[in-house]
Amino acid sequence: MEYIRVWSEVDLKDIEDHIIIVDDKYGHCPACKKIGIELKDLKKCPSCSRELKYVTSKEAQGGKFDIVMRTKRKLPDLIFVDYSDYERELGKKKAGNLFKV
Ligand SMILES: [Zn+2]
Repeated sequence: MEYIRVWSEVDLKDIEDHIIIVDDKYGHCPACKKIGIELKDLKKCPSCSRELKYVTSKEAQGGKFDIVMRTKRKLPDLIFVDYSDYERELGKKKAGNLFKV
């Protein structure tokens, strides 16, 4: 299997609402702050039971594909989002919200 990064237009809110952040073994739900989530065949957060559609990892930064491939094997249905892209867009959104206040 080959992997290449693809740029696409996204709904940031949808990503925020359905993302899990993973390391090599476990996941962390940014919504309910649950940590140590088992990844195998995960479709919902076991704690807050929100649906998961996206996954990202800090460890995949700098083009480290090993973790991307391992994560895709465990969670084949989830879309792997680049962590720095996600953080950057989230940061912009948060900054935008501050200006509106
Ligand atoms: Zn959760």
